[in-house]
Formats: sequence, C-alpha cells, structure tokens
Amino acid sequence: MKFLFLGTGASAGVPVVGCKCSVCKSGDFRNNRLRASGLLQVGELNFLIDVSPDIRFVALKYEITQLNGVFLTHPHEDHIGGMNDLRSYSFLNHNKLMPLFLSETTNAVLHARFNYLLDRFDRTILKEKRGRVSIDGVDVIYFTYSQQGLLVNGFRFDKFAYLTDIKDYDSSIFDELDGVETLVLGAINEKDSRMHFSIKEACEFKEKIRSVKSCYLTHLSHEVDYETISKALPKGVLLAYDGLNINV
Ligand SMILES: [Zn+2]
Ligand SMILES: [Zn+2]
Repeated sequence: MKFLFLGTGASAGVPVVGCKCSVCKSGDFRNNRLRASGLLQVGELNFLIDVSPDIRFVALKYEITQLNGVFLTHPHEDHIGGMNDLRSYSFLNHNKLMPLFLSETTNAVLHARFNYLLDRFDRTILKEKRGRVSIDGVDVIYFTYSQQGLLVNGFRFDKFAYLTDIKDYDSSIFDELDGVETLVLGAINEKDSRMHFSIKEACEFKEKIRSVKSCYLTHLSHEVDYETISKALPKGVLLAYDGLNINV
C-alpha cells in the first residue's frame, strides 16, 4: 500500500490568506499546506480519506483519474468542502455510485448541504463507535474519538491508520491501534488547543502504541516551520508535507 498526502494543513491552509508571517512567506515547499486529506493506494485501488476544499486542485495535480471509495472523518468544512467536485468521477464512470463511508453526524450535514448530489454515492453509515467494513476485498477498521464533543472517525487499513482532528479519546482506542506501524496523526502546532492535539500531545499519544515505527503529523498550522520543528521531534515522529508519498 502507498499513502499520498494530498494536503497537510489546518483548516485555513498555509499560507493563511492575508498573513505575512515567516512560515506563510517561506520559500520552503514543505511549508505550503493545502487542507488535510490523503489518498491510500491498495494495489490498483484508490481510496480517498476526506474531501477537502482543495480536492479539485489535487485531483488534477496528482492525476487521480479513478476513486474506488471515500472515507469521511467528520463534517467540518476542511474535510468535506470538496464533495461537489467528486461528481466528475461519477460522470466519467457511467454514473456508477461512489462508495462513501461516514458517520450519522457527517451524513446529516451532507444531507443539509449536498442533498442534490447524494444520489451519486453508495453510502455506508458507520453506526457503531467502532467496527469493521469491507470494500473491494479491503478490510477497514473504524473507530471514534472526539473534538470538542463532535465525534470524529479514524480509519485503520492493516498496519496503517489515519487519525486527524483528535483531542479527546477513550483509552480503548489503543486496542484498535495495536499493531499499527505507520500512523498519520493530526496535530495543530506547539500550543495547547481545545480542538486538536498539540505536537507534544501527539508525540505522547504515539508513544503509547509500541508497534508504531513512523508517525506522520498532519493538519498543521502556519505556526509550524517544517525545518525548525522537524529538528526538535523525537525519533519516529515526522512532519508530513503535501505530496509526500509513503509505503505503508
Ligand atoms: Zn480539520
Ligand atoms: Zn502565517
């Protein structure tokens, strides 16, 4: 399997509109962050995790001509804002329904915002707090944590797991993550946040999963300078950047 980071930024992206800080003005491409989403490639199959408002741009940039399924973590704009642009895959694929995995809460928001395009999707509602689904022979474990009371889904594919927008969680989450070797984890910056892990909290979380060999931090704000922060990270923790493609 391979995982391509399509976007690694917080909800405003980096550069932030109107901001003149050193990271927003940086010439380092790793400080240029679209909103967080990723593409998991399993053999010939392409699975998209979250549909950021930048999805059209990245689909063209990385020539993503085929999608076999879409997983949504939660219904905030930076994770679902590009839903309308997925219609092209349906048009090109003889109106075949796109498999979509999402929580009840996310489904309710999609109904309110994107009712006109929901008949293009074959929706599987993730009803339980944790469970398993299968698509095209690929087993996926989903689990739940939260961000200011809003439930968010994380997804595990074999030894790879993707968790973004995480702040509060039940310790049983570590049972779900036992055996994961590559972890993508949301962290906003070095400060405490009500909505997200700080980088320090993310490092502490990763330490509790002994099997993890590499932990990539994503959903990063413009307070995070790639070069400076990378040097200060413990072994096994790395900052992700847009376009990074890893074997998982
Ligand atoms: Zn977010
Ligand atoms: Zn800035």
